[in-house]
Amino acid sequence: MDEECVTELPRGGDLPWALFYPADYSVASSSLGYHYIYRSLKELGVAAERFCNDPVPFRSIEGDTLLERFPVITASVAYEGNAEIFFKWLNSANIPLHFESRLSGSYPIIGAGGAMSYINPLLLSAICDFIILGDALDALPFAVKSLRRYLTSGNKEKLFDELAEHPSILVPPRHIRSGSVAVKRVLANDQPLDAVHPMNSTWLTPRSSFGKTLLVELQRGCVRNCSYCTLPGCFGKMRYRDSGMIKERLEEIFSLCEVDQVGLVTPEAGDHPQIEDLLDFLESKNKGVSFASLRIDRLTEKMLYALKRGGRHSITVAPETGSDELRFSCGKKFNNEIILEKLGLAASLGIDQAKLYFMTGLPGETDEDIKAIADLSGRIITETGLNLILSVNPFVPKPGTVWSGMEFEGTAGIRKKYGILVQALTKIKKKRPQLRMASPKEAESEFSLAWCGYNESVALAKNNGISKKVRFDPAARAKTLLELEYLW
Ligand code: SF4
Repeated sequence: MDEECVTELPRGGDLPWALFYPADYSVASSSLGYHYIYRSLKELGVAAERFCNDPVPFRSIEGDTLLERFPVITASVAYEGNAEIFFKWLNSANIPLHFESRLSGSYPIIGAGGAMSYINPLLLSAICDFIILGDALDALPFAVKSLRRYLTSGNKEKLFDELAEHPSILVPPRHIRSGSVAVKRVLANDQPLDAVHPMNSTWLTPRSSFGKTLLVELQRGCVRNCSYCTLPGCFGKMRYRDSGMIKERLEEIFSLCEVDQVGLVTPEAGDHPQIEDLLDFLESKNKGVSFASLRIDRLTEKMLYALKRGGRHSITVAPETGSDELRFSCGKKFNNEIILEKLGLAASLGIDQAKLYFMTGLPGETDEDIKAIADLSGRIITETGLNLILSVNPFVPKPGTVWSGMEFEGTAGIRKKYGILVQALTKIKKKRPQLRMASPKEAESEFSLAWCGYNESVALAKNNGISKKVRFDPAARAKTLLELEYLW
C-alpha cells in the first residue's frame, strides 16, 4: 500500500480487531474519524487491521487476513449507504446478521461507531453487539478492556453486561427490550477537542480522495442551523481547536515528514475565528491548502489565494437553491448577488471552475425555484466566465434536523423535478454546465435507512442487509423519532 505514517505507531498488539470502513480506500483515507480510531486502537496496543472495499475485499490491508478470522469486527459508519455495505460484507462472510443469531457459537463480536451513531444508531441496532455513541475516545479504551477480558473468558453474556455499564455504549442485547430502546444512553458530543482527539491524519497517501494531503481538523459542530443539516443538532456545540496548538503540531509534523498540501477539515472553514492566522502560517511554510467545505458568504480573498497556491483551479460551494427565498428558508442567509460577487472574486484570482451543490425536493419548493437554478447558473457563466459543474441531490429529511418531520419527495417527484431542471438548462447556449444528478432510487433508500428503528434493522438482518428487499413502513418513522428522543 502506497502510504506513509505521520505518527509512528506500535506494531502488533494482543487483541485482533478488524476495523472496517465500508467504502473505497480513497474515501476511507479521507475520513479523519477513521484515522482517529485506527490510531487510538494501535496506541491502546490493539492489533487493529484495516479493511475497505479495495484493494482486496474481505482481506486486511496490513496482513492480508480474512475478515472472519478476527474475533472483533467494527465498522466506521459515516452514512446510511455505508451501513448497507457493512451488512452485506458480514453476510458474505457467513456471519449471521442479527445479534440474536450469534449469541451461541464462535462468531465475532460486531461493533460500530462513526457519524451514523450521532444521528440514528438504531439503524445498526439489530446487527451490532455494541455501538459506541459519538466521540468514542473515552468509550473506546473502556470497550478495549472489556473485549480483552472476553478474549480470555469467552463469556459473551459477561461482555455485554460490562459494555452496558458505559453510558455512551449502546448494547442492543442489553438495551433493546420488546423491540424498543429500554435504557437511556448518553451521546458523547461535548468533549474538548484539544484534550482528547488527535487533530491530524495518521497516514498520508496519494490515493486519498484529496490526493496526498495532511488532514487537520479545525472544528466540530456548527453555529448555523440550516434546516436540513444534521451537524448542529447531532454533533454537539461548536468546538474549535486553537490555532496556536495547531501550528505547534504542524511544525512538528513538517519536521518529520514531507507534506505539500494541508486539508482543513471543518464544517465551514470561514467560521473558524483564527482562519486567517492559520492561512498566513501555512503560506509562510509554503504549503498548499484545501478546504473540506467552504461557505460562500464567508469566502475571503486570502482563502481563495491559499487554494490557488495549492494548485487548485476549481472551487466547490453549495448555493443549495437558485432562489433567495428558498435558500433563506434552508437557513442559508445569503443571496444570489453574494454568490455572484464571491465567484467573480474567485475567477479574478485565476480559479476557472466551480462545482455547485444544489438540492431539489425541498419543502415549499416550486417549479420556479427549480428553474431558478438554471437562471443562476446562466448568470454565473455570463458574469464570471467560470465553467460549472452542477451536482444536484434530492433533499432527504434526517433525524435531528429542523426539517426532520418534512416529507421526502419520492422517486417519481424527484424525476419530474430533474426533468424541469434539464429543460431549463437548455436555455444556456454557451459553456452549458455539466450536470450530475444523484439517483432518486438511492435517495429513497437513504431516506428509509435514515429512519430505521430496531424493527426495521431486524428486517434488514433477515434480508441479508439489502434495503431494496425490505418494505419500509412510513408509519415506523414516527416510532423511530420517539425512540431517538427517549434514547438521548
Ligand atoms: S449546512 Fe453548513 S452552515 Fe449549515 S448547519 Fe450544516 S455545516 Fe453549518
